Amino acid sequence: MFLSSQQCSYCGSTIEPGERWVREKIFEPTLNAREPRYHRYHADVSDGQEVSCWEKHLVEKEIVRATTRAAFRSYQAAAAQKLSRM
Ligand SMILES: [Zn+2]
Repeated sequence: MFLSSQQCSYCGSTIEPGERWVREKIFEPTLNAREPRYHRYHADVSDGQEVSCWEKHLVEKEIVRATTRAAFRSYQAAAAQKLSRM
């Protein structure tokens, strides 16, 4: 369904078959679109890295949402459940 964009939204690299990835639902109210878009992130740690693209992305979101940490935690838990394997 979303096979056309197998690209990590964080690093821009292609997500190879067999690699774990996380899909994040993106709502863009300005576009008035009925269907949300999806971002994908590497969930596996690549060579030389300490954290995955997904975790880096979460950290960035955490900084943005520092004032709403409770909401962030529940979001994080929900996102973890979406962890998928291609
Ligand atoms: Zn990546």
